[in-house]
Amino acid sequence: MVKQSVVGEDLNETVIAMRSELARLRVESRHANLLLAALDSVLTVDRSEDPFASAFAAVQSIFEHAQVLALVESDTPSGTAPLHCVSSNTPALVGSLWPVDAVLARVLDGQVLNPSTRAEQASWPAAVLSLLSPEQPALYLPLRVRDRRGLLMLLRKAGSAAFDPAQVALAGKFSVLASHALAASHAYHTEVERHRLKKLTEQLEASREELTYRANHDQLTWLPNRTHIQDLVNARLATLPAGERLALAFVDIDHFKQVNDFYGHAAGDALLKGVADRMRKQIRETDLLGRISGDEFVLALSPVKQRSQVSGLIESIRARIREPIELDGTLLRATASIGVSIYPLHGHDYESLRRNADTAMYQVKTVGKGGVGYFNRALGKLADEKMSLERRLRRALDRGQFTYMLQPKVSIDDGRIVGFEALARWIDDDGVVQLPARFLTLANELGLLDGITHAIVESLAADLPRLDARFGPQVRYNLNVSAQQAGKPRFMNALVRRINDLGCASRLILELTEDAFVATSSFQKTVLPLLREAGVGISIDDFGTGFSCLSILADITADELKVDRSLIASIHRRPRNQGILRAIVSLSDALGMTVVAEGIETAEERAYLLESGRIAFGQGYLFARPGFVSDVLTTGLREPGPQARDLYTASRPRKPRIP
Ligand code: C2E
Ligand code: CA
Ligand code: CA
Repeated sequence: MVKQSVVGEDLNETVIAMRSELARLRVESRHANLLLAALDSVLTVDRSEDPFASAFAAVQSIFEHAQVLALVESDTPSGTAPLHCVSSNTPALVGSLWPVDAVLARVLDGQVLNPSTRAEQASWPAAVLSLLSPEQPALYLPLRVRDRRGLLMLLRKAGSAAFDPAQVALAGKFSVLASHALAASHAYHTEVERHRLKKLTEQLEASREELTYRANHDQLTWLPNRTHIQDLVNARLATLPAGERLALAFVDIDHFKQVNDFYGHAAGDALLKGVADRMRKQIRETDLLGRISGDEFVLALSPVKQRSQVSGLIESIRARIREPIELDGTLLRATASIGVSIYPLHGHDYESLRRNADTAMYQVKTVGKGGVGYFNRALGKLADEKMSLERRLRRALDRGQFTYMLQPKVSIDDGRIVGFEALARWIDDDGVVQLPARFLTLANELGLLDGITHAIVESLAADLPRLDARFGPQVRYNLNVSAQQAGKPRFMNALVRRINDLGCASRLILELTEDAFVATSSFQKTVLPLLREAGVGISIDDFGTGFSCLSILADITADELKVDRSLIASIHRRPRNQGILRAIVSLSDALGMTVVAEGIETAEERAYLLESGRIAFGQGYLFARPGFVSDVLTTGLREPGPQARDLYTASRPRKPRIP
């Protein structure tokens, strides 16, 4: 599913945080498993064996090492007697004697140590030193079997990475647990010892279960998380009796981002928990429910007989979600958009079923939120086409296949050129010139439009000298920027910086739709002043579509207003549109904005605009269609008129000139 970039960033952060939490839990759970396995081997040891030797065997499975040694006090310990090496994977070291220096003494007293160098161990036997290099990172862990003390020493290859804090912590746990376990198993199994051991094992088992549970569940709703629900559904599919179906529903909470922004994250969390609880209560015991990201849930309905049963179940869940939820004293009504795919019709595994349910859900969102949609072949085809277009667009950007056409903006009166609008074009692999309608929405969704805009700026700047030689340096060039782009200060900053570097800021006018001005407050506060400072002109594009709230104009500081083609088409025959146009022009006059009529196609439209006498400039097929730079330079476009010279440079307030 593709969302607006802001939501995307939020989700991204959540996903990254969840991933690292999951990774941490996985590591912890792995550690618990390692400890359990190691402990098992300690406990199952033959009692005739030296207990230290069995711990020695166990520790090898936990830590990566080059050498491991078990050093033990003699049977009649005295403070100064050297330690014996009872086991080692370097046979030559078995039987060697180790004087107890300060470091070994601390370990015997119960500390886990990982000294960075072992240079101070000069007192070690010469035979030992010849086998060990002081550069081998070391980890010492104490072991105690009842009164007998000893230690395990792990060494890595000289020069390799030292043992990290997590491993040191694990070593600490191991040495305590192994000491207890050894003590217990070698204590002739007294009742007390056995009891302690049992409890210990139980605790560890419980913590392993707890850790596994945490690693598999989302910490907010305690529903199975993304990876776990996948495993659960795939397991269910594997055991589904032949001929039986399963319905997979992709549930996406509508407007979740707004709830989060408006009421705060705590309220957002409460809403998610509320919705999760309702769904949990509504589904049957055999159904599966999981949360796969911020506001997305997956529901597997099984068993299901016929389609009507599926829609009945989904409907009951939808109704349950819609019941009001109280947040901070406010009653909120959540709705969800739901997409459904059916096994085996729409996929044989979780991933394809989820993808298709997601596609169906996305379709619901675009048509009207809060509904239910079922996957079908046509949707599948649409999704495939979208994916293939996405691939082609990414490649097109890499291959520099985006360019632009110029359409003149003229004086309606005499057709003389006062400016140009740059319009994006994609020359595809087959050399076909693709219009924005084919690629713009998707490129915008994918964030590829930023690259396209930059490419147009670069080409335009490079073409300017030639264009100026023909049309003069007073002509300005309009560049389209989407509302999403305008809402991204990072992109806008980079764009303005590049325009400045290219030295063409005063030659450009950015065309923005109204929603760019109202969608984000950052645009008015931070981006607009930046454009002003750089000397880039501002134009309001497509006015008469969108919100088209005249009062909004008062808040917008722009140089130019382009009236959308839908208002201009057949204007001479539409009194209502004439009235609207008059209002727009009056307001623009008052605010010092130049009005441009877009999409003038017929002589009648032009005649009306001329007669009404209040709009001086226009664009449209009647005057010229968009053309590539080479065409614009060679065809017989008229020279710029004298009025173009000061069109955009006169001081405010500006009135459009009527020749
Ligand atoms: P727009 O900004 O309103 O651009 C004018 C569109 O109307 C252009 O279509 C142009 O070819 C077309 N047009 C001009 N005169 C006439 C006319 O008399 N009759 C009719 N029927 N159409 C006319 P185009 O080039 O296909 O662009 C469509 C839209 O795509 C543009 O509408 C603009 O919103 C968007 N667009 C184009 N290039 C870019 C770009 O580089 N960046 C962004 N963000 N949007 C762009
Ligand atoms: Ca435009
Ligand atoms: Ca337009």
